[in-house]
Amino acid sequence: MKDEFEWIESITPKQNHQPTLIEGIGDDAALIRPEAGFDDILCVDTMVENIHFSRKTMTPYQIGHKALGVNISDVAAMGGTPRFYLVSIAIPENWSEAELQEIYQGMEDLADNYKLDLIGGDTVSTPGPLVVSVTVHGRVLKGRKLLRKNALPGDVVFLTGPVGLSAAGLELLLEDRVSENLKKLVEAHQLPVPQVEAGLLLAESGYKIALNDISDGLGSESHEIAESSNVHIQIRYEQLPTVEEFNHFPSEQVLDWMLYGGEDFQLVGTVPRENWPSLVNLFREKGQEIHEIGEVVEGKAEVSLLQENDTTPVSKKGYNHFSE
Ligand code: ADP
Ligand code: MG
Repeated sequence: MKDEFEWIESITPKQNHQPTLIEGIGDDAALIRPEAGFDDILCVDTMVENIHFSRKTMTPYQIGHKALGVNISDVAAMGGTPRFYLVSIAIPENWSEAELQEIYQGMEDLADNYKLDLIGGDTVSTPGPLVVSVTVHGRVLKGRKLLRKNALPGDVVFLTGPVGLSAAGLELLLEDRVSENLKKLVEAHQLPVPQVEAGLLLAESGYKIALNDISDGLGSESHEIAESSNVHIQIRYEQLPTVEEFNHFPSEQVLDWMLYGGEDFQLVGTVPRENWPSLVNLFREKGQEIHEIGEVVEGKAEVSLLQENDTTPVSKKGYNHFSE
């Protein structure tokens, strides 16, 4: 990098969206105005080259898109709206300035969809791999937060869309088996879409909902809800939403992707059974997907899979990106 000042200049947004932004990039710190009636949401996620992404399977643009996307997904899982983001980047010598700008472009294009403003960050060099850490600020209506500890026996367990696509896509990329008819799986890995709309609908519904976004896999995220709420979660195999692309693979492999593949950014949650029909209607009216996949029952704070007459435990192993 030639000049840090020029670099910061080059990534500074030409215009901002949020009226509550007082000072963005350029001073010692960003300044934002709090909003009456809302609680603030803050989250941060770090992506390390060759652990969370690889240049072989993702372009710099896609890396940026995902680094911001994981955070937006966390805000969505709280029922919130993302507002601002900050980016800390540790840059090794073998990344060009053009590639770094592509990372920022990937973030900016996703940010524009939700009117998020880039309001600061930090730039350092490193002898190690590229590290990009993104912090997102969001807001949620007071009293409408969707916490993992909200699940109760009798609740419906739901998903906002099919899962396992990203893990399938990564496998295809690593094995060089990408083909036109499986493009959707690869896209799910490279440009996953956070479910902000769905999270907002869930928050606005006012129902007692437990919610989690799927970054580490359906198994591990369901475990988090089961543990926080001290309930047992039963997932019904037959109810798991699927996609046509999965028909090309053995069903055990697809199930493994579904339960243990991460980064689909779908939301998994629970809602009281009596509120389920109106929640389904609300989602249908807004053209959003929602699927019942099981039930919350009393019992050990664990997760099990019901498949015909068999019940098998679902482990909480998370998705491990580049280890076999
Ligand atoms: P300071 O020494 O006060 O931390 P810096 O030179 O690190 O100042 O940063 C100057 C401005 O540029 C600050 O507003 C900071 O938030 C922003 N900034 C620095 N690096 C980045 C980056 N990688 N992405 C976004 N904003 C950045
Ligand atoms: Mg600094």
